[in-house]
Amino acid sequence: TDTDTSDEAVRATCDDATICKRFATSKNYWKDPYIQYFARSVGERKAPEINRGYYARVKGVNHLLDAFIRKTECDCQIINVGAGLDTTFWRLKDENLLPQKFFEVDFPTVVARKIHNIKTKPPLSKPLIETHSTDSLLLDAHSLDSDRYCIIGADLRDISNLDEKLKKFQLNPELPTLLLSECVLVYMTPSQSSNLVHWAAETFHTAMFINYEQLNMSDRFGQVMIENLQRRQCTLAGVEVCQSLDSQKERFLKTGWEHADALDMMTVYSMLPQEDVARIERLEFLDERELLQQLLQHYSICWATKDKLNLGLSQLAF
Ligand code: SAM
Repeated sequence: TDTDTSDEAVRATCDDATICKRFATSKNYWKDPYIQYFARSVGERKAPEINRGYYARVKGVNHLLDAFIRKTECDCQIINVGAGLDTTFWRLKDENLLPQKFFEVDFPTVVARKIHNIKTKPPLSKPLIETHSTDSLLLDAHSLDSDRYCIIGADLRDISNLDEKLKKFQLNPELPTLLLSECVLVYMTPSQSSNLVHWAAETFHTAMFINYEQLNMSDRFGQVMIENLQRRQCTLAGVEVCQSLDSQKERFLKTGWEHADALDMMTVYSMLPQEDVARIERLEFLDERELLQQLLQHYSICWATKDKLNLGLSQLAF
């Protein structure tokens, strides 16, 4: 069916993210010693503005994520929705920033691939075993559950199933919780992503949601981005929420979140530590700076908080 083709195309997008991240790290934009185990080879060259865009995305998201973990002194949990082949769990382990538990959710077939990689690559499996206290590590084809890391195969559009599975794997609604979605909500209709965001606000009294995705999609450049994805049968069902920073924030403010902020990635790029930005700008020559600007103006980070425990989550920013 059309839905199957479209879902399959959406699932394939996790490889794009991994391949681009692998290439950028091979050029030293940032360090990720684990990404090599999820992308078979460095792959073909990517344009400098693409690498800088991924740099801004990774640094921007990590900035907020790490700030949340520090604010809660690791007494928290993280749920990465549509995590794909993301390597954040391993980075946090290496940096002594592991939350109580790190959950990932993606379609079962993506999860099965990720679990296969973890099983067969000791640098990935060792940290899991090291952070696990008993012999009873659950590792089957479609789920993995250890003390600190859990991967669940589920469709994010089916909230009751998602809720049930997370609870089965000891999700704790009382713990401060960070939800992360990186280029995921745009593949769901506005009502489906609202349901997810609403579920999170209802489930956790103290939480933060970080969402990275496309922005300003109604202009010419945005139309070209949409056409490029459509050519691969990939439907951006949620594109209307990507019209403006206000519509990004509204999705949260309408569904029970107390506070929301949003920035386009050009602004985020200009707020990142400028010493490191100067370093990466020396890595590859970029002829036309407008190209980078245009690209960065078409992505955003939106973050929302609710804070019953008064941890000061609404102050987290750039
Ligand atoms: N967040 C990862 C990253 O940034 O590297 C992966 C991003 S990739 C562009 C989008 C991911 O969202 C894919 O892995 C896809 O399978 C997942 N996804 C999209 N819609 C989903 C849904 N309804 N249920 C579960 N996963 C979904």
